[in-house]
Amino acid sequence: MTSGTGNSDDWTTPGTFEVAPGVHRVPLPLPNDGLRAVNVYVLRDDDGLVLVDSGWAITEARAALDAALKELDCSLGDVRRFLVTHVHRDHYTQAVHLRREYGMRVSLGAGERESLAASMTPHRNPLAEQLARLRLLGAGELADTLAGLTGTRLSTGDWELPDDWFHDGQQIRHGERTLHVVETPGHTRGHVVFHDTGSHLLFAGDHVLPTITPSIGFEAALSANPLGDFLASLALVRRRPDARLLPAHGPVTPSVHARVDELVAHHGARLDETEAAVARGASSAYEVAARLRWTRRERRLGDLDVFNAMLAVTETAAHLELLVAQGRLTRSDIDGLRRYATA
Ligand SMILES: [Zn+2]
Repeated sequence: MTSGTGNSDDWTTPGTFEVAPGVHRVPLPLPNDGLRAVNVYVLRDDDGLVLVDSGWAITEARAALDAALKELDCSLGDVRRFLVTHVHRDHYTQAVHLRREYGMRVSLGAGERESLAASMTPHRNPLAEQLARLRLLGAGELADTLAGLTGTRLSTGDWELPDDWFHDGQQIRHGERTLHVVETPGHTRGHVVFHDTGSHLLFAGDHVLPTITPSIGFEAALSANPLGDFLASLALVRRRPDARLLPAHGPVTPSVHARVDELVAHHGARLDETEAAVARGASSAYEVAARLRWTRRERRLGDLDVFNAMLAVTETAAHLELLVAQGRLTRSDIDGLRRYATA
């Protein structure tokens, strides 16, 4: 679906792929094989390069970005600014590291302030909030397993403040191009997308992904109703003019609207399944997650690795919280355990 040389059906194939005049997709490797790669988009004009997202700060991603920019007869020194869609490691941390060497400007959504402040706290367990939350959600064993694993590859040295914060409605000019900043809380509280209305392109980050549903509720400073936020942000993007979908994970596809409709339908069905699981007697988020099926391969919670099991439980909690907000379920916290019941 992308043009340019060397493209194959596998969107993770390294290289530079021109997706529109002056816009190149550059997939960069990730340290774990879950999402396989993250797309960085290189926007070029006469004064240099602007990049949407930066990749995870690992040697392999740095080398891949170096090689890709060389293919474009450029180098890291030509990058003037990183426009980062959200604070997750695979999007933000390489920008922080490269800025120390090259001094380019790094910009991030203002809604990420709190989560970033938590991540920057010295000597903090990077998953402290998530572990406490997992216990509340009935997944104490999972929290114990995770507590034993964290801290090895995750260092607070990856985190620094951006040079500036994006706000909704802001416009970024780069040569002939204007990018509209649209706040899309949900995947994270401060997630933003960049809409190039002139070229009909949406740099969607993880808000709209073509083949998977973005995780909801994985962040240090959590919103009260992250799934409600996410669905509202999908509706917001659906009301804007349609555009080609330039996602952070997966291939470029022709229509943002088409994919938003699928995501909305998916979450509608998932809310019904979640409510039904509670009606049949599951009461904690953990118990509900254990009754649902996960990934496109319909796997059971117990078959997921611990990190994905954590995401499954927090995602289930996000669905439960939305059902509470909709008046379909009730919630009570007793003795450190959150239980849900049919309303
Ligand atoms: Zn991501």
